[in-house]
Amino acid sequence: MNIGRKPNIYTKKRWNNRMVNIDVIDVAKIIKNQKLFFSTHKTLDTKFRKSQLKTLKRLLKENEELFFDVLKKDLGKSEYESFGSEIAQVLDEIDFALKNLNSWVEKKRVSAAWVSFPSRHYVYSVPYGVAYIIGAWNFPVLLTLTPLVGAIATGNCVILKPSELAQHTSNLLEKLFVKYFDEDYIKVVQGDAEISQQILNEDLDYVFFTGSSRVGKIIMKKAAERLIPVTLELGGKSPCIVDEDANLEISAKRVIFGKMLNTGQACVAPDYLLVHEKIADKFVQLLKERILNIYGNEPLQHEDIGKIINDNHFLRLVKYLTNGEVFHGGQVDKEQLKISPTLLVNVNWSDEVMNEEIFGPILPILTFSNLNDTIDLLNKFEKPLAAYYFSANKKKQEGFIKNLQCGGGMINDTMFHFGNPELPVGGIGNSGLGQYHGKYSFDTFSHKKSIVKKPYYLDLDLRYPPFKNKLKYLRAIFKL
Ligand code: NAD
Repeated sequence: MNIGRKPNIYTKKRWNNRMVNIDVIDVAKIIKNQKLFFSTHKTLDTKFRKSQLKTLKRLLKENEELFFDVLKKDLGKSEYESFGSEIAQVLDEIDFALKNLNSWVEKKRVSAAWVSFPSRHYVYSVPYGVAYIIGAWNFPVLLTLTPLVGAIATGNCVILKPSELAQHTSNLLEKLFVKYFDEDYIKVVQGDAEISQQILNEDLDYVFFTGSSRVGKIIMKKAAERLIPVTLELGGKSPCIVDEDANLEISAKRVIFGKMLNTGQACVAPDYLLVHEKIADKFVQLLKERILNIYGNEPLQHEDIGKIINDNHFLRLVKYLTNGEVFHGGQVDKEQLKISPTLLVNVNWSDEVMNEEIFGPILPILTFSNLNDTIDLLNKFEKPLAAYYFSANKKKQEGFIKNLQCGGGMINDTMFHFGNPELPVGGIGNSGLGQYHGKYSFDTFSHKKSIVKKPYYLDLDLRYPPFKNKLKYLRAIFKL
């Protein structure tokens, strides 16, 4: 009888750019085993969770060199970037969770409602069960392991699927997790959309997705079939506004920093620039000087310029160079998949580069004259994951914060709001659903169970029928 499930046999498949025999992963069995593991209640023990967080810390620390190596191969990242924007960030999340876990796991007592007097009211945080974490390729360590910290802290079992596009990192994660973790508890499954869909067909308890808005919609639709709760960490076009009263020298440095981290392949990178028309010429010149200052005349040879993840993304980005006019940069190297930091001017809102998330080292620059009109215009577009505003004027800063709809952002800088475990990370509308990092990860991966405890003494008659002549007492209790 065909029950529609693939058997656990060997099949031929294109993988890592070659045809190989791979074991068709029996995802149903993995999930069944994880459910059994979860039902032992082992993960409910805070000591167990802490020990697993420490194991994750060990995995990262003992294999730092291997991580540097694969991140170099996948994305051409320097050790500095790999450490600062991936490994250190996860370690920081682990330490934050270890420090706070005892208080997070505590049931929280809340004020009791009079109607149920006498009683005590609590909120318990309980794990969902088996969580499926789907990662993106651009920060392949950070974006798979940061949600994992939250899932471990709450006591879930986890299936972790790194992006198939960061192949070396994905291979390494699978190899290391087998060594450090019980696979009935945490299992790395490698693969593409097809394997991901197979996993989504199973009896999951939570799905945490990082990736594009397009795939996010597919995931949510799939999860809706079984009413599986989801978090969607998506992307979008994050605007960066530089006003006439900004400190232009420092702003130029910080904009280029944000655009060039991971060679622009960051979900919170400033996607495009809106510069006040009064200072536009000067600011564009300062941006050019900054790029020259750091990367010189041969930027493609500079060791801190990473590579574009693959041919498709490289060709997609090269197409944008025909939009507007290249003010600076525009060099490309197809062999190395490198593109130099590029400033595009005379760009129109209708250009392709202004209608897709760029995700590369290309910065289109437009001008504006009135901040409020600009915010009104931006609010008509899809809500971005991040937004940045450079200005010395506190009133205008607050206006920007209150009026522009976006996931989060910064005033007078870029990117750093992503790295603090005290701050939630998450989008709004097209840029995502739900939040994580620090306590927000704990809350995301736990169900809040409301429990009321009643003693046996005092069993008030007021609650039981007959209700005749009792309404006045109820009104008194509710003060209505
Ligand atoms: P993607 O959506 O193509 O893929 C993400 C993951 O989903 C991969 O693991 C992939 O294998 C899986 N997947 C792809 N198609 C699927 C399908 N049909 N069913 C199930 N799973 C499927 O995204 P990407 O190219 O890896 O990442 C780039 C995007 O991610 C950008 O839009 C970026 O802004 C966004 N992003 C967001 C954040 C954030 O924190 N919000 C972080 C990084 C990247």
